[in-house]
Amino acid sequence: MTLLPTIGLETHVQLNTRSKIWCGCAVETAANPNTHVCPVCMGYPGALPVLNKEAVKKTVQTGLMLGCTIALKSKHDRKSYFYPDMPKNYQITQYDQPLCLGGSLEIEVSGRQKTVHINRIHLEEDVGKSTHLRGASGIDYNRAGTPLMEIVTEPDLHSEEEAFAYLTALKRILEYGNVSHCNLEEGNIRCDVNVSVAEADSHMLGVKAEIKNMNTFRGVHRALVYEIKRQTRAVETGIPLVQETRRWDDDQGMTSSMRTKEDAHDYRYFPDPDLAEIALSAEQVEVWGAELPELPERRRQRFIRDLELPDYDAAVLVADLHVANYFEQVVAAAAGSAKASSNWVMTEVMRELSESGGSPADLKVTPKALGTLILLVEKKVLNHAKAKEVFSLLVKSGGDPEQIVKNEGWAQVSDSSAIEGFVKSVIDENPSVVEDYRNGKHAALQFLMGQVMRVSKGKANPKIVLELLKEMLA
Ligand code: ZN
Ligand code: MN
Repeated sequence: MTLLPTIGLETHVQLNTRSKIWCGCAVETAANPNTHVCPVCMGYPGALPVLNKEAVKKTVQTGLMLGCTIALKSKHDRKSYFYPDMPKNYQITQYDQPLCLGGSLEIEVSGRQKTVHINRIHLEEDVGKSTHLRGASGIDYNRAGTPLMEIVTEPDLHSEEEAFAYLTALKRILEYGNVSHCNLEEGNIRCDVNVSVAEADSHMLGVKAEIKNMNTFRGVHRALVYEIKRQTRAVETGIPLVQETRRWDDDQGMTSSMRTKEDAHDYRYFPDPDLAEIALSAEQVEVWGAELPELPERRRQRFIRDLELPDYDAAVLVADLHVANYFEQVVAAAAGSAKASSNWVMTEVMRELSESGGSPADLKVTPKALGTLILLVEKKVLNHAKAKEVFSLLVKSGGDPEQIVKNEGWAQVSDSSAIEGFVKSVIDENPSVVEDYRNGKHAALQFLMGQVMRVSKGKANPKIVLELLKEMLA
């Protein structure tokens, strides 16, 4: 019996609008509790919601990025929700007429491409945040009424790796489109997971569990590993599974039952009478689409086509929006030397970023400085080893590479007569090594080469050194 897990994801993404979805309160979730609230987001009787157009725009833009069909007519519905973190006792969401339908996202798992189909994206409101203290609970309504979009996939995923790859690719798209801050620590992206296990060749899905309470992609991955194992064991040993909602406990690393279908909530959806239908024109959708930047896949193809980068480089560079932007600025400053720029960004710059954990904007090496450095190497003013030293100085304190080279006296010596002098002295000082070389020992040449570089304080043009060494030893 080969068992195959089937997974669908419902991802809640907090949109980065300035104000909340139904009122003018600022989205400031980090502020002191209950300082950004008003009668509307506190659900006072008689207070009327007004839809934030920016939230519609960002949801539509997300739909466009994912290739969804944008519904020109959609509406909002009330969903019964009896928890204290929602002051109205219902959540305004979209039930049968969401803003975006269909669409897909390409993911790559261990070198294999795969299409994950999107079922829908709808726009709804977030609830407040409960804090449970000893003997009491507090609720902060700053977050209540923050616009959320819920992105629902088809059950196209079949492993925890695929789910992780989907979330990573989704986050990249959301960052490119600037629709969310995508700050995972602050819960900007939260995931519910539907998972079941069935025989691989079966046309029927197994009994599914919905897992809630995952705030990190790592958490989704771990919860899926646990849950797939639990369900597989049950199916293999013939223990019947029940359709249920389970809670992921990140500290204990396990899921536990929250509620079964018997006490599932009756949501009693109905159209919100306080809100008008959302009517968009095709022109409006087109205008919003035109505001979107180039997406990662397009950009990757352009890097390969126009900048003639290898596939690998292009994929690594576009993986992070900020790295890709930094790289393009370096290329511009390096007069179009794309491959040299890519080499520097993929090695020195990305190493620096992974060590500091920062973003390219925090680097003291500006794209302009790195571009200038690359040009100095290309113009043979600097050899590569010295260029790396300049880079280290730039990392520490920024500045202008040309000035650094001047101050340190690192300009490469390409003048043959000067280098000839270095070579001659090294040959004179190392008669036995010269003898070895003449007897066919090739490593001897490397040693002599190193000596010349040392005598020149690393400034000699290595290519000329090698030529002259061979010439004078012949
Ligand atoms: Zn408000
Ligand atoms: Mn939802």
